[in-house]
Amino acid sequence: MAIRTAQALLPAAPLRLTTEEVRLLWSFVHGAIQIPSMRAWMRESLGFCPRHTWGYAVVEIELWEAGVGDRAGHVPFDVSVLYEDLARGLGRRLAQPRGWRRRPDAVLVPGRRCLICTQLDSPPREGFAIGYANSNSAALAAEANPLRHSRRWCSLTADAWAELACSACLGDGPSSPAHDAAAPCRLHLAEALRAGRADDGDLAAAASRLTGVADRLAVFVESVTMFGPSAGPADEASWIEALGFFAGWRFPAFLAGLVAPEN
Ligand SMILES: [Zn+2]
Ligand SMILES: [Zn+2]
Repeated sequence: MAIRTAQALLPAAPLRLTTEEVRLLWSFVHGAIQIPSMRAWMRESLGFCPRHTWGYAVVEIELWEAGVGDRAGHVPFDVSVLYEDLARGLGRRLAQPRGWRRRPDAVLVPGRRCLICTQLDSPPREGFAIGYANSNSAALAAEANPLRHSRRWCSLTADAWAELACSACLGDGPSSPAHDAAAPCRLHLAEALRAGRADDGDLAAAASRLTGVADRLAVFVESVTMFGPSAGPADEASWIEALGFFAGWRFPAFLAGLVAPEN
């Protein structure tokens, strides 16, 4: 089981998204997220798989150039809206009494496959292979993959999230000591539950933490809109905290220079 989890997590390395992944994620940013059936899929699948969770953030941050406020773009806005919803929903489910559940980890495991992985495996439909608004997906992939803005986001906010990161994700070596504030990500919490190393108290802690993340994400999302309040460091880091919980922490830790790259 440990091997399965390790394989599911993204290694600490550049993503190198393919042209097709960028095409699908860029299309998702531009509309699919608004379709109710897609939102229902996201809730069942607990977002995307780890690779496409971070890929989604990268595509939005690197490629979305226009925006309001000081930043004028390159902001993880859509991804924050989606993961506020997912964090709040999962927090609510984790807070429910679990006595009737045979598998306490089940609520942390996706009930449906990643939408992007599913689309990648589907034969292309005639007329649907073009990028959003006829965009050149290969050029967009070349623009996204250097990760310039994503690296900047992860580095500038690291002080607000590094202590919260799952220590199992970052490795238990001397270079990444477990902090008091650290808590397991979804994948390592599920693994700990299956192994009998976590209990109701850990589920309750995860529930209240997810609700807190959702609240900070709401402030962050508002701060990016025209008339929103300004966001503090914990709000600005909230999307990394949310994605770290759902998809593991190695990728932002790599971008912030906190872990060495893996091959
Ligand atoms: Zn996927
Ligand atoms: Zn983890």
